[in-house]
Amino acid sequence: REWCVALPKVELHAHLNGSVRDSTLLELAKQLSDKGVIVFEDVKGVIMKNGRSLQECFRLFELYHILTTDHDTVARITKEVVEDFAAENVVYLEIRTTPKNNEAKGMTKRSYMNAVIKGLQTVEAAEVVLFDSNLSTDKTLTCTPMSELGGDTRKKMICVRLLLSIDRRETTLAALDTVNLAMELKDQGVIGIDLSGNPVVGEWETYLPALEHAKELGIPITIHCGEVANRKEIQAVLDFCPQRLGHVCCLNDDEWKKLKSSMIPVEICLTSNVMTGGAPSLELHHFADLYNAKHPLSLCTDDSGLFSTSLSNEYYLVASTFGLGKAELFQLAQDAVEFVFAGDEVKKSLREVFKRAEKELK
Ligand code: 5GP
Repeated sequence: REWCVALPKVELHAHLNGSVRDSTLLELAKQLSDKGVIVFEDVKGVIMKNGRSLQECFRLFELYHILTTDHDTVARITKEVVEDFAAENVVYLEIRTTPKNNEAKGMTKRSYMNAVIKGLQTVEAAEVVLFDSNLSTDKTLTCTPMSELGGDTRKKMICVRLLLSIDRRETTLAALDTVNLAMELKDQGVIGIDLSGNPVVGEWETYLPALEHAKELGIPITIHCGEVANRKEIQAVLDFCPQRLGHVCCLNDDEWKKLKSSMIPVEICLTSNVMTGGAPSLELHHFADLYNAKHPLSLCTDDSGLFSTSLSNEYYLVASTFGLGKAELFQLAQDAVEFVFAGDEVKKSLREVFKRAEKELK
């Protein structure tokens, strides 16, 4: 497990509100309970989770959003989530989040994102590299070597980029707003678009104009695909050919073939898929099939808070379940560099991180 923490890692699929610390959620719940907005005892048990079906998760997100959706809290959770990933040697992190309008809180999608960006600027426990220009000849990304884990006093470095999520409950116009906002914020760390939200809600045709618009603007796109067996939508998503896909759980034989020939990189979320029933068990997870087929893959957490996992733990699970050795795990982590949405400067710097770590870890 310590080796998996020491391994430099790239996280490509992490939802901001799904990655919040339990301790923060409990503290926020206590505060809202003191104000009489919620009853602490009612929500405490929900936060200290047990089983999680996919639909239970989406009910839980509604509670999370009650707890977290004001500007200061959004900034706070962003800061904490980045610090938590940095602490386990994640050297590159794409956080995705849904910009939210909330009239009662005086919140617009834009002001929500300003709060997220403010959160990034207040990270203390790590040095956040938010712009390609932060990387130069005298400044490259670093990670903590195995030998210094625990005793390392240097600040961690983490390169962070933001993806804006379109929630499946949104209208075409709201989805278009999100894409336009991503374009406006492209100089502030926003580099992509995600389609997520409850997969049994909404129609592909609703989001398609916004996704097409993002494509025209040259914004990279990742799409949650096949969390439920919606044949028509899985086909449409594969035909759309986004830069990356999340999950890909419920594909039939033809769809697997199509996916494999597309070579679209897949964000694999083992714990999340097993907990929500997208995969029958760890042993039977489609990771094995895609890995054996040499399909481009990247291990991700999805919602590290909600599912009580970490990226190091996801690597550990792959080792313990599928018998991958250190060299193979290292390769898996290193390969993810090629699927980041950030530009060539960042990729170059990340390749260097792995090159430097190789001797010690492989
Ligand atoms: P937020 O975007 O509010 O920062 O993060 C939480 C949101 O991410 C949820 O409300 C939901 O829209 C989306 N999300 C988180 N986990 C999943 C998942 O496993 N599947 C899908 N489809 N959406 C998710």
